Amino acid sequence: MADIDIRRDVLLKPYTTMKCGGPAAFFAEPGNAEELAEAFLFAQKEGLPAVILGAGSNVLISDKGFEGLVIRIGKNMSGIEVDMKEDGGIIRCQAGNMLSNFGNTCVSSGLEGAEFCCGIPGSAGGAIYMNAGAYGRQMEDIVTEVSYWQDGDIRKIKGDQAQFAYRKSIFSGMKDAVILGFTAEVPAGDKDRIKAYADELRQKRINSQPLNHPSCGSTFKRPEGYYAGRLIEDAGLKGFALDGSGACVSEKHAGFVVNINGTASASDVYRLILYVQEKVLENSGVTLEPEVKFIGDFSL
Ligand SMILES: Cc1cc2nc3c(=O)[nH]c(=O)nc-3n(C[C@H](O)[C@H](O)[C@H](O)COP(=O)(O)OP(=O)(O)OC[C@H]3O[C@@H](n4cnc5c(N)ncnc54)[C@H](O)[C@@H]3O)c2cc1C
Repeated sequence: MADIDIRRDVLLKPYTTMKCGGPAAFFAEPGNAEELAEAFLFAQKEGLPAVILGAGSNVLISDKGFEGLVIRIGKNMSGIEVDMKEDGGIIRCQAGNMLSNFGNTCVSSGLEGAEFCCGIPGSAGGAIYMNAGAYGRQMEDIVTEVSYWQDGDIRKIKGDQAQFAYRKSIFSGMKDAVILGFTAEVPAGDKDRIKAYADELRQKRINSQPLNHPSCGSTFKRPEGYYAGRLIEDAGLKGFALDGSGACVSEKHAGFVVNINGTASASDVYRLILYVQEKVLENSGVTLEPEVKFIGDFSL
């Protein structure tokens, strides 16, 4: 019988890359499917909503926190196994492992095609949920199977059944489904070339992204036919901060809203997101859709 530790009033800010937001009424970090079931049972008995958190690199959590149970899939479910074959490798990665660790494991094993994962600061589970990608590749290109938990059962689907699309997957529309892990098949390649390419992509990020300030990465999805960053820049918002708050459109990359020195509240960030949407719509007629997921109550 599992006996999961469910904590009360846990501040969520440190569990996000945006470094803002209030507490979770309840918080659990299950280590296996049994504990996960126990966590959901707890929420059900208490009549509370539950939300899944990975590495918190694509979420904005309300300053009021979350009046329910936050189930964090992290270090307690983070195994990774590499099965090397003659012409490639089969990698089984648990959802709580970091995607960058998965990418680095492929690179050091001489497996080619997962280098794009190295600089994405999400968990493996969050990467499946979002179909994370960069530099022309995304999770759907390498994932052959996803395992997930729902209603007390562990289920598996093939990669081509996961309905991967731009920054979404079948899981985006499923209630209380928890991604447990994925299997990827990655072909073998030249180790030096793979490492050099991973280094090149890392350097590109350093050169183009404001990695010295907390953020959620690209705040908005790329609208078809446009770049969100360019539209925001064209609206004159590069470097813009509403009411001089710490929430600011990055000077380095207008597609990122950053939290300068961690001084912004979630409501500062939220208000800025709304403002940017309004100004871009006014200026170019394009509606920007947030890529970031909002957790909790944002009524102003
Ligand atoms: C500096 C920076 C750079 C970034 N660059 C990129 C990039 O190049 N490409 C890109 O695609 N993204 C990028 N991102 C965004 C982010 O890293 C990805 O979206 C990532 O996949 C989110 O994973 P996560 O574990 O942090 O998910 P979270 O932010 O914790 O959650 C995101 C969503 O996934 C759900 N979720 C998370 N884990 C699970 C699970 N195990 N089961 C079910 N649902 C789950 C959550 O409920 C939530 O709805 C960047 C972010 C930052 C801060």
